[in-house]
Amino acid sequence: MTDFSSIRREFPILNQDIHGHPLVYLDSAATAQKPMAVVEAEQKFYTTINAGVHRGAHELAARSTMAFEEARGKVAALVGASAEEGNEEIVVTSGATAGLNLLAAAFGYASMGRGGKAAQRFAIHKGDNIVVSRAEHHSVLLPFQELAARTGAELRWFDLEEDGRIRSQDAQSIIDERARVVAVTHVSNTTGAITDVAPIVKRAHEVGAIMVLDACQSVPHIPVDVHALDVDFAVWSAHKMYGPTGVGFLYGKRGLLEALHPANFGGSMVELAWMDQPAQYMMPPARFEAGTQPVAQVVAAGVAAEWMMHIGMDAIASHEQVLTQELLKLGTIDGVRILGPTNAENRIGTVAFEVQGVHPHDVGQYLDAQGIAIRVGHHCAQPVHRHFGVYASNRASSGIYNTVDDAATLVEAVSGIRSFFGISTR
Ligand code: PMP
Repeated sequence: MTDFSSIRREFPILNQDIHGHPLVYLDSAATAQKPMAVVEAEQKFYTTINAGVHRGAHELAARSTMAFEEARGKVAALVGASAEEGNEEIVVTSGATAGLNLLAAAFGYASMGRGGKAAQRFAIHKGDNIVVSRAEHHSVLLPFQELAARTGAELRWFDLEEDGRIRSQDAQSIIDERARVVAVTHVSNTTGAITDVAPIVKRAHEVGAIMVLDACQSVPHIPVDVHALDVDFAVWSAHKMYGPTGVGFLYGKRGLLEALHPANFGGSMVELAWMDQPAQYMMPPARFEAGTQPVAQVVAAGVAAEWMMHIGMDAIASHEQVLTQELLKLGTIDGVRILGPTNAENRIGTVAFEVQGVHPHDVGQYLDAQGIAIRVGHHCAQPVHRHFGVYASNRASSGIYNTVDDAATLVEAVSGIRSFFGISTR
């Protein structure tokens, strides 16, 4: 049995009082706290091997390059991707948002005829369509909405069940022969629901569309195997998986990465550059990693991936399942509505809720005064909030370090909010 109380002790930030109360951190969907192994990895990098990667003939450059590439391998292992040299499927980005914009921009280049014949499989034209869902984070919705506008394609979307689940069963009708790209979230950052991606992937491939998965909220919480899911691309951020900020990853099937035109241009991504001829770009992943990379942070993200694998994604998921059950007790409080599935199955411990009659900012402040950190607002997912008929919500989200007591403390505090604000219970 994994001892999660000793894991919690690896996060010194949690051991403090906020406004005179022990901190209860329930905002991991925004960003997760970092274990000492990750903090120390970054420090160790700077105090022992700091140097630019892939350049320079000196020993430190060789060591930092090796550490950087090893980190890529660890991250690949976490999501079931290949890390063999010459078959790397992991591209370093500055975050999920950057990965999604990279894809949308690269598809845009293909649509303009750039990248030769191989890139044409990504080209999008008037009459084609791009499919997303109403549950998307703006980081998925907006890059693909802009791509649709740029190319004249139609933007379509999966609708949601009443409880916010993506209606994967509509794949046959939503994804038609003109679909070129399908981009959906693996787990919603608002409802916490795990998408049933299999029918979506199957249908996308049936019609020859490129399947993009937003794995931001799945990689930290449940086992993810990109090969088993058979998605073409996936993105996620290191800072939500107990790693540093400023780093993210893009998984792509090797053949697709080789066919994809780069979207960021600069140093360290070119074989040959001329004044009067187009440049010849390096093979992936280098061709997508223009400029100086956040090496220390990538190395620390690799340590985070290793640290999670050491605990085991199944153990992490079971631990959080228990927390989810406790958090869902929020829905039993009079005047509190869960915005998402109320059953702990097929969902994670990211629980958005409405306290009827109390503005989310007031809820957030009330809880903060008791040392409880949650997120309030629309969580960069306005359409899903509209689906529930609200503009904003409160969101508690669990991490590996949370205890059942943390969740119970929140539930207890929320149960006093409406009377505090003078709203009488029915
Ligand atoms: N997608 C989802 C589902 C997210 O939760 C987030 C982060 N809130 C993002 C995309 C964007 O990630 P980042 O801000 O780290 O680029």
